[in-house]
Amino acid sequence: MSGLTAGGTLDAGLLDDVLVRARAVPPISDFPTVDALLDWFAALADDHPSLVRRRRVGTSRLGEPIEMFSIGDGPRPHLLFAGVHPNEPIGFRTLQHLAAELVADPELCAMTDATWHLVPCIDPDGTRLNEGWFGDPTDRTAYARGFYRPAPREQVEWTFPFAYKDAYFDGVIPETQALMRLIDELRPELMVSLHNAELGGVYYYLSEDLPDAVGPLHAVPAALGLPLDTGEPESPALRRLAPAVYLAGSSRDEYDYLESLGLDAAAMVGGEGSAAYARRHGTVTLIAELPYWSHPAADDTSDTTADYADVVRAKAEALVDVGSTLSLLLDAARPDLTLRSPFLRASESFVPMMTEAGNSELVRAGRLPSRPATGAEVFSNEEVVRMFRLRYGGMLVRALEAEAFAGLATARLHRVHARARAVYDEWLADAQAVTGLEVLPVERLVGVQYGATLTMSHVLAKRGGRRR
Ligand SMILES: [Zn+2]
Repeated sequence: MSGLTAGGTLDAGLLDDVLVRARAVPPISDFPTVDALLDWFAALADDHPSLVRRRRVGTSRLGEPIEMFSIGDGPRPHLLFAGVHPNEPIGFRTLQHLAAELVADPELCAMTDATWHLVPCIDPDGTRLNEGWFGDPTDRTAYARGFYRPAPREQVEWTFPFAYKDAYFDGVIPETQALMRLIDELRPELMVSLHNAELGGVYYYLSEDLPDAVGPLHAVPAALGLPLDTGEPESPALRRLAPAVYLAGSSRDEYDYLESLGLDAAAMVGGEGSAAYARRHGTVTLIAELPYWSHPAADDTSDTTADYADVVRAKAEALVDVGSTLSLLLDAARPDLTLRSPFLRASESFVPMMTEAGNSELVRAGRLPSRPATGAEVFSNEEVVRMFRLRYGGMLVRALEAEAFAGLATARLHRVHARARAVYDEWLADAQAVTGLEVLPVERLVGVQYGATLTMSHVLAKRGGRRR
């Protein structure tokens, strides 16, 4: 299908179709539990045996079967997986909506000429530890208290094999092994790793510089009334392709960046990401990052009176402070800890990373030329401190709580637990004091992931044969 005009933007009719579909996602108010999600897909396959093919593709570390559902029979393999970070559930709803549309609308399958392979939940064990906040995702305090993000070496996204300079990683977890088998078997033309962010605006990662994709990818959130995020990127090692569009990060780039700062890169990076792994098959990867809450500063590109280097330095010092505050609590608790819970494993990884991240940003701040910071940069640098406090403070509290709930907490551990809760309550209050947040309806977030996915399918169809 000829999807692009000579000017290189998506054909107006196709883009209109994408935007109409993105806006037509019905209201959604929550995220599904693992059981509800898997039951829903099983019922879809049972109800449409001629359209939906169901297959087990792996097993989680705690023994949960991991399934894939395939729809359509076109020659273009598309692979989408959700739960790759189990604290990022928007993709669960996106896959449900996409699957329902593919089954209900044969035209959609036909126009993409694709076979859609959907893995509803690649990390069921981690997802179950987030279910406490899925029922009401609008409440930031409930979200923070119920938050769980695995330690990096337990994250599906970042445990692909990696060997570069002095770094070597081969601790590939079973869920990632399942994805590696799928990527090598399917050799997808398009892969969508379903992530989401937390607060701010919409931004994307692409595994290749595809200028034709930028206009349509910007049009999708605009059509849904969502801002782009033009603030601080997730890592200074990232290459910006266009406003709010970055080249997908890789551990190789991160290594080189950390090494350039004179830091021990080999000790700071772990495994590689899925996009870098799939590149061997010419696969193009899309990641659409979406917030639950937007803020007017997310796309404020006007200059402030603050100096950018000062903004980065203030963030860096705050991160060092988060690291030392949580380290003191963890060290005080350590002699009495008995449970190697996922919350403790995550805390032991992330707490020292706060100090490392702060120190590397201090080095960067010292090298920055003087220039005004934009409104988006000021806000996003402050916000990342709030986000890390809520995430990693919350998981440390859960690690201590687990000891108390199990009846194993010593008197000393109870006291450390009380101190940790007091620190955490202050951080929660600080985050609650931020004004101007808008809770985004889940259907609009799903609309962006769904619309961006269809956009990339059309862009790649026009480009034709995959490149290697
Ligand atoms: Zn993620």
